[in-house]
Parts: sequence; C-alpha cells; structure tokens
Amino acid sequence: MSRYTGPSCKKCAKISQKLFLKGNKCFTNCAVDKQQKASRDKKFSSGHGHSKISDYAKHLREKQKARFMAQIGEAQFKRFFSMASKDKGKTGEALLRFLEVRLDNVVRRLGFAVSLKAARQLVNHGHIRVNGRQADIPSALVKPGDVVAINPKAAQTLLVRQGLEHAEKSAPRPSFLAYDPGAMTGKMVRWPDRGEVSINVDEQLIVEFYSK
Ligand code: SF4
Repeated sequence: MSRYTGPSCKKCAKISQKLFLKGNKCFTNCAVDKQQKASRDKKFSSGHGHSKISDYAKHLREKQKARFMAQIGEAQFKRFFSMASKDKGKTGEALLRFLEVRLDNVVRRLGFAVSLKAARQLVNHGHIRVNGRQADIPSALVKPGDVVAINPKAAQTLLVRQGLEHAEKSAPRPSFLAYDPGAMTGKMVRWPDRGEVSINVDEQLIVEFYSK
C-alpha cells in the first residue's frame, strides 16, 4: 500500500523518482520504492518496456528534480542558474555547486540535521553561526574558508542528535567539509567536486532546458 505522507513525498511521486527529502524514512519506508517495484512487476508480466516521454518533458523533469531536491522555488532556482551562467566554468556544474553550498545544505551535510527541511529549521531559528556570526538565511552561500558552527544548546536537541547519528551511520560527510567533532564545527576547505554534489541529476539537460 502506498504511503504519501505529505508534500515531500508528493514531489517524488510526481516525477517517479526518489529525491531523499525525508531523511531516514527515505531508506526504510518509501512510497516511490513501492511504486517503482509495482511498475517493474507490471511491465515484466505484460512484456512491455519503458514508455517514451517527449524531449521537452525529459528536460523539464530534470530541472524539476534538481529544484525539488534543493527545495527551492522557481524564482530562486532561476537566480542560481543565472549566477551559474556567469561562472567561468561549465554552467551545469556551477549550478550544482551553488546548490550544494547553500547554508541549509551544508548544515545537512555536516550531519546537524537528517534532512534539508530540518537543516533549514535550524538556520531559520538562529541556531547556526558562520565565522562566529549568527546566520539565518538558508540560501546564503558558504565559501571555502568559512566555518559553520551549531549553537551548543541546539546541539543537544533530538533533531541534531538524530542528524549526527545519521551522518555516522549512513551519510558520511564529504571531504570538502572538514568536521571537528569536539567543537561541532565544519570548515569548507574547498569547493565541492562534481562527484561530491548530492543533487543527482544530469545537469546538461537543465542547461538545455533554459537555452531552448
Ligand atoms: Fe518520501 Fe523520501 Fe521516498 Fe521521496 S524518497 S517518496 S521523500 S520517503
């Protein structure tokens, strides 16, 4: 029996793909897993292969997938794309890099929260500091040399303890972030490489979507 438990799962269902928006639940009880298994079983028993989708739909879907994974609105996504298109490197890679180093995502990848939503909550509630100053804008970009820290009181909460446990067990920290467990801080030591970006999409399709 499928189990769409709110807006996050609906986003995954819309594009029939796992976007990992709910932390641990995504590994244990995911409706899309069940949906895909049922669809595979059906195709297998009927002998039919994949249905074709239009070129436009394919490009749109990849853009939506990245936007849903970053959990940002259309206007903000476009702003990131516009910044990326001014970058000296490849536009698609720059876009993913910018999405990856948003403060809420860095907080998640440091293990202070199991999901982007929980990380955003920590930032919005003023529990995060960057270079010693309170930082409460989730979409602010972290850059190499910046040190992200969590307020010691917030570090004791269940939300954060769950995040830290998740990071130890199933979501190892990427090496562009140097984590200091004693101080509970993470320093961005360099920009993330393409392979370290957690948004798993074909960025070229997004570039083509915006250049149509
Ligand atoms: Fe829900 Fe996570 Fe599965 Fe997406 S991947 S449908 S957010 S449980």
